[in-house]
Amino acid sequence: MKKPIPEVHNQRLMPFRWRELDGRVLLTGDAGDYAWLERETFGDFLAGTLSKEHPAYADLERHNLIRGPHIEKKVMDRVGARSHHLFSGPNLHILILTLRCNQACVYCHASRKPKTSKGFDMDLETAARVLDVIFESPSPDLTIEFQGGEPALNFDVLRFIVEEGYRRNQGGERNLYFSLVSNLSTLNQEQIDFLVDNGVMVCTSIDGPADLHDRNRRFSKKSSYKEAIKKIRAFERTYKRRGLDKELAYVNALATVSRSALKKPREVVDAYVRMGHKVIHLRPLNPFGMGLKIWAREGYTAQEFVDFYLEALDYIIELNKQGEEIMEKLASLMLVRILTDEDSNYMDLRSPCGAGLGQLAYNYDGRVYTCDEGRMVGAMGDDLFCIGDVHQNGYADIIRHPGVRSMCVASCVECLPGCNECAYAPYCGVCPVYNYIMEGDLVARSPVNDRCRIQKGILDHLFRRLAEPGMEDLLRRWTESKDRSSVYRRIVP
Ligand code: SF4
Ligand code: SF4
Repeated sequence: MKKPIPEVHNQRLMPFRWRELDGRVLLTGDAGDYAWLERETFGDFLAGTLSKEHPAYADLERHNLIRGPHIEKKVMDRVGARSHHLFSGPNLHILILTLRCNQACVYCHASRKPKTSKGFDMDLETAARVLDVIFESPSPDLTIEFQGGEPALNFDVLRFIVEEGYRRNQGGERNLYFSLVSNLSTLNQEQIDFLVDNGVMVCTSIDGPADLHDRNRRFSKKSSYKEAIKKIRAFERTYKRRGLDKELAYVNALATVSRSALKKPREVVDAYVRMGHKVIHLRPLNPFGMGLKIWAREGYTAQEFVDFYLEALDYIIELNKQGEEIMEKLASLMLVRILTDEDSNYMDLRSPCGAGLGQLAYNYDGRVYTCDEGRMVGAMGDDLFCIGDVHQNGYADIIRHPGVRSMCVASCVECLPGCNECAYAPYCGVCPVYNYIMEGDLVARSPVNDRCRIQKGILDHLFRRLAEPGMEDLLRRWTESKDRSSVYRRIVP
């Protein structure tokens, strides 16, 4: 029988959380430091009987888990650095240019409208008001992300926003970036030239090999996979003609994991290797705005996703060992939280999360939401996450809306039951929109919901793998993302 964990009798301990994993104890500190102890040693550590000569003592000191001169100040400064985004205002602004789409994905959310529908496009007047609000944000960095529906179906308004955005930022006071999330299929060469010449980042979906992608992303009688690959190649040729560095200028892609992908983790990874992509982002399906019928057909349990993900992750690590340069994005975002004090600008692994504080989402009609996921709930007829309207409100009204405060309180992991004592709190984030959809409350009634199970499953595995000899060096490379800002600048006057 295991010895019970003794009571704490040591004034030298820094605040920490812990978790037993494979018979050992993982300790984590508020600034993301971590150390492993054998169970026996952990008991001595708590009881204050761990000798300074014990090799674990120096390790705990090195990881700021034992009080010492200046340690508290150092840890406080690092916690501040890890949360610096709280003091700068939202930098990500998601614009829904249209709800129309020319494809019909099997997991699409309820807001999609057919390509020929009328009345679901952002107009120029609304676009200009959206820009007014965006430029009122105090953030020195502004990323304007075009989403839909298929945002390229409203290309004239996209063009207006890019040109007007650069005009308003003529003094270059802000670091202004644009990004387009598109299935790429409607883009012609003139539009591709415009996007490349104006430094618009492009992100698309590739769900895996052709048969899987085409099954997920229905495109009348055509292959959505072939269309996407054709356009990715057209972008690559255009980047090359402009003399841009191919290591920095490329189309980003992410894979949404549907039920049909679950048995094919290696095939999905191989599809990215064949395309020559160095980053694969394996994204679980989310239930926002998705009807229950669709979820019943395409959804899966947390454990099914974790099994898929871990097999894919181990395979990617294996490919790395064989010299292939490819990383998984979700793991890389978590590793940034574990191994560095940097901010990966990922809204869902923050405490509080990015809703309102880091991002705002603007619907085609001018209504403003805490985030795009909140906007999707709005599309289902529930405007709980709506925090204003650009036709009536300025930035100050929007950011002071009680909805922003509620999201902030509901997503502080340090204060939430269950999360507050979880060893993964320094690296994790909760999602009030997810909780609301799944449980009808911004705060999870059961802290251990499916989203938590996925985060925990991935973090358990990352910590296990980090403990292997030589593995930290390999995985640390995934945290060293290249600065791509030089190619996402306007190259036309
Ligand atoms: S969501 Fe789950 S894994 Fe994340 S901090 Fe909370 S309890 Fe821990
Ligand atoms: S509410 Fe959820 S989706 Fe919205 S920013 Fe927060 S974590 Fe992300």
